[in-house]
Amino acid sequence: MTNAEENYRNRSGIIVMCMYCRRTQSKAGARWDRVEEFIQNRPKDVSDGLCDDCMARYYSSQKS
Ligand SMILES: [Zn+2]
Repeated sequence: MTNAEENYRNRSGIIVMCMYCRRTQSKAGARWDRVEEFIQNRPKDVSDGLCDDCMARYYSSQKS
């Protein structure tokens, strides 16, 4: 496992990447970081997620 993977795998051993912008959720879940390594070479056990920005952009009910 690479250093980057150690920093981003959550307790279940899963890496969560945003399905739209490909940013990766930090272990604690509070941040979404662009991890070049994961974008170039998708690691094992990746789960598609949705970051806060994309949630707001694509699913916001505030926008008309
Ligand atoms: Zn996103």
